[in-house]
Amino acid sequence: MKTLIIFWFVVLVAEPGTAQDDERRRRAMVSKQIVSRGVDHRATLEAMRKVERHLFVPSEYQQNAYDDSSLPIGHGQTISQPYIVAYMTQLLDPKPEHRVLEIGTGSGYQAAVLAEIVKEVYTIEIVERLGNQAKQVMDRLGYDNVTVSIGDGYKGLPDKAPFDAILLTAAPEEIPPPLIEQLKEGGKLVAPVGPQNAVQTLVVLEKKQGKISRRELSPVRFVPFTRN
Ligand code: SAH
Repeated sequence: MKTLIIFWFVVLVAEPGTAQDDERRRRAMVSKQIVSRGVDHRATLEAMRKVERHLFVPSEYQQNAYDDSSLPIGHGQTISQPYIVAYMTQLLDPKPEHRVLEIGTGSGYQAAVLAEIVKEVYTIEIVERLGNQAKQVMDRLGYDNVTVSIGDGYKGLPDKAPFDAILLTAAPEEIPPPLIEQLKEGGKLVAPVGPQNAVQTLVVLEKKQGKISRRELSPVRFVPFTRN
């Protein structure tokens, strides 16, 4: 009896649902929250069905991991709403041979979604503990094509540049020029841009024949891009 109680305790604490339940919740998340809002990039949808979002959120929020919302991840930061992750991934137009740079690792979830699609992901996080935690989760899940760096992402990673695509998941008032510099010809940069603690605009830059074109899309709300 005692063994049985301990067994159930372990099951309840360690696993909020079975792997099949989690997969069902992810499929429902993709159809109800993402496809229904117009995201149709196949590789993005496949990645969103695959990556175990509940393993990237604090344990007290695991039961909400597939809800239609952002969630706190500690240090005043958040993991974005699943739809926003999917929408921004689609905007980047990621391809299997791509090398992508993300600024704002946070939980590591967005990096993992990209890592399912592209060859290499480089991601920079300014809050050391968040970066280390994200690295641990991704190592445990076997994402060996992701490199996490701790520091201010403003300067990007000149040693690893140029990148096929660059994604910012924290909002600067202006896109840092070094990041635009590190974008490959034909590449896309997606970023929320605008003042802190206000509505920002999702911006897509594209580099064509050395020239930058800029499109402004929907209003969004992201945590601020901070500096050391
Ligand atoms: N992509 C994340 C979302 C994290 S929220 C996810 O999937 O969970 C944005 C993150 O950007 C925060 O963790 C914040 O600490 C980080 N950040 C803010 N300014 C930064 C900067 N200058 N360089 C690197 N990371 C930054």
